[in-house]
Amino acid sequence: MSEPLLKVASLVSGYGDITVLHDIAFDVAPGEIVCLVGSNGAGKSTLLRTLSGLLATQRGSIHFDGRALAGAAPREFLTAGIAHVPEGRRLFGPMSVADNLRMGAYLRTDKAEIERDIEKMNAMFPILAARAKQQAGTLSGGEQQMCAIARGMMGRPRLLMIDELSLGLAPQVVEKLGEVIAQISLEGVAVLLVEQDVATAFELASRGVVLDTGRVSLLGPTAELSRNPAVRQAYMGIA
Ligand code: ATP
Repeated sequence: MSEPLLKVASLVSGYGDITVLHDIAFDVAPGEIVCLVGSNGAGKSTLLRTLSGLLATQRGSIHFDGRALAGAAPREFLTAGIAHVPEGRRLFGPMSVADNLRMGAYLRTDKAEIERDIEKMNAMFPILAARAKQQAGTLSGGEQQMCAIARGMMGRPRLLMIDELSLGLAPQVVEKLGEVIAQISLEGVAVLLVEQDVATAFELASRGVVLDTGRVSLLGPTAELSRNPAVRQAYMGIA
């Protein structure tokens, strides 16, 4: 197996004095899709926030592409190549779709390449091209998720982290998003996916990390996790 792109070890993190994540360890290979599953409050969003530098690492290490990032500012995580599509998408509502995509490239200076990448995103999500001038806040939920993913990709990340991919979206939209995520991964960008719908998560990802009250309780190939009786009962509603 190739060297991991992301390697997290003994990670402890939380909010101020409150520790939410304990001794987290897992890795993500280049171009790999890994899903993060767990009950409400297990710490999935907290982990993504820590891996984008929004929350400080209390202990442990985050190595990305050979760089030690624990303790770094969010900007350093971004420039290292980690993009975060947060829960609720957090688009710039009053700005146009096209301007939201440009905001995703705000650390880049290669103007011509930025425009080329916008074209690429428009090809990936034709609906965004059709709605380029529309205010992002007026898009449907599925369109907003597409816009948020495209904005994340505009930073040319090597790891795209998506929090709650399918929340509130129709099955056809989730299917389309799944196709795009597979395409992104084929192009060599790794994806770390938080997904409430565990069956969908296991379909998309090659490996999964199960979080239980802030700790990794299980981790392995999704083909194995989906056969695990405890996982099936606790997270997939299958007895
Ligand atoms: P969900 O699936 O419900 O979104 P999650 O697995 O993403 O859950 P987190 O949102 O990471 O879980 O929350 C993990 C724990 O951290 C919870 O106990 C939550 O109450 C706590 N928490 C989240 N945000 C804060 C905050 N700003 N300050 C203090 N505690 C917080």
